[in-house]
Amino acid sequence: MDRLPYAEVTEPGYAERAAATFQAARPAPGTLLLTGPCPRCGTVIQVPVVDGVYKTTGRFRVGGRREPAPSERLEPLICTCEEEHPGRPAGRAGCGAYWLLRITVDAP
Ligand SMILES: [Zn+2]
Ligand SMILES: [Zn+2]
Repeated sequence: MDRLPYAEVTEPGYAERAAATFQAARPAPGTLLLTGPCPRCGTVIQVPVVDGVYKTTGRFRVGGRREPAPSERLEPLICTCEEEHPGRPAGRAGCGAYWLLRITVDAP
């Protein structure tokens, strides 16, 4: 694959693709682990999210479309891949892509 240059960009398609491919798991109470391929560079990344919303015992879905949602929020994600992207500022990770991931918490 060609090396993508680092760029802090977002596109509507990023959120759509991430909603279709990301998985949510709960490795510990109150922590949600989002896993999926970056919609820009394609590297699988893991993004831990700590938030009181996830202390409920409900199941988690990403990109749910059913209405009404018991609890839903948009989580801002940014690519955290560790591959090389030319032009990336020192100390940064990822390709620069960012997007919003819709997370639905089903009622228990
Ligand atoms: Zn990326
Ligand atoms: Zn990358």
